[in-house]
Amino acid sequence: MRIRTIALVAHDNCKRDLIEWVRFNRGTLEKYRLVCTGTTGRLVQEALEEDGQKDLNITRLKSGPLGGDQQLGALIAEEVIDMIVFFWDPMQPQPHDVDVKALLRISNLYNVPTAYNRSTADFLISSPLFKEDYDRKIRDYSGYLNRELNEATSQN
Ligand code: PGA
Repeated sequence: MRIRTIALVAHDNCKRDLIEWVRFNRGTLEKYRLVCTGTTGRLVQEALEEDGQKDLNITRLKSGPLGGDQQLGALIAEEVIDMIVFFWDPMQPQPHDVDVKALLRISNLYNVPTAYNRSTADFLISSPLFKEDYDRKIRDYSGYLNRELNEATSQN
C-alpha cells in the first residue's frame, strides 16, 4: 500500500490554528506524507521538530501566492493527494484569489476529502475511513472528453 498523502495549507490568519491542529494530531500525521505550501510547510516543520519529531516526510511546495496553490492543484490532478486540510480565511482578500478558487474547484472535481476549518479536519482525521484504503470514486468524464465539437469550435 502506498503511503498516503495529506496536503496542508493555511492562510496567514489561520496558520496558528493549523499548527495547533498538526501538533495535536502529530501521532497520526507521522504515518503520512505531508505536502504543504511553502510558508505553511516551514511552520509545520518547525513545530514538529520542536516537538521532537524526527524523520519527517514533508514536501514543501512554493509559497501559495507564488504558485504553491497551483503546484498543489497539479498534484490533485495527478491523483496523488488523498486528503486536504486547507484553512482559508473568509475575512481577508488574497492576492492569489483566483488560485484559491482553482484549488477549491479541482479538489472538488477529484472528490478529495477536504477540510476548510478545524472542526471538519477533526471529523476527517477521526473517521474510521481515514485509516482504511478508501476507494475514492472520481466521476467518469469520458462523455465530456469524447464530446462532439462542431466545425466552428474545432477551427479555433
Ligand atoms: P503559504 O501559502 O503556506 O506559502 O503561506 C498559503 C496559501 O496558499 O495562501
